Amino acid sequence: MNFFLLKFQFKTCNSKKLPLQKFKNMSDVVICPKCSSEFTYEQDELMVCSQCFYEWNPKETAAENDNSGKILDANGNELQDGDSVVVVKDLPVKGAPKPVKAGTKVKNIRLRPDSDHNIDCKIDGFGSMALKSEFVKKA
Ligand SMILES: [Zn+2]
Repeated sequence: MNFFLLKFQFKTCNSKKLPLQKFKNMSDVVICPKCSSEFTYEQDELMVCSQCFYEWNPKETAAENDNSGKILDANGNELQDGDSVVVVKDLPVKGAPKPVKAGTKVKNIRLRPDSDHNIDCKIDGFGSMALKSEFVKKA
């Protein structure tokens, strides 16, 4: 993606108050490391988030991602698709009357490295859930 084109697209949608969503499927969408927004744009050497105005250097972030591509549990063990894990602390669930209790076993997780809640799973009594890997450990 050419820099000027990106800039032009941003200005175009901004001036018309169109959501940037339209460009969501571009192959080189950059996710804001702070708020996970996809509505980011390039400014000189930096990337800027239009949602939280966080600025960062994509080259530095890319270097970090090389190390953090793995999804680690609370003990620093790498998790894999299909693993079983145990929840290590009570997790409040939006819309549910009770939290997912510490010690709850979760089978057959699916990893979602691009998401803030990087584990998809099903929990008995709750249904489909998205968890953070830091709140589980490998069973
Ligand atoms: Zn942001």
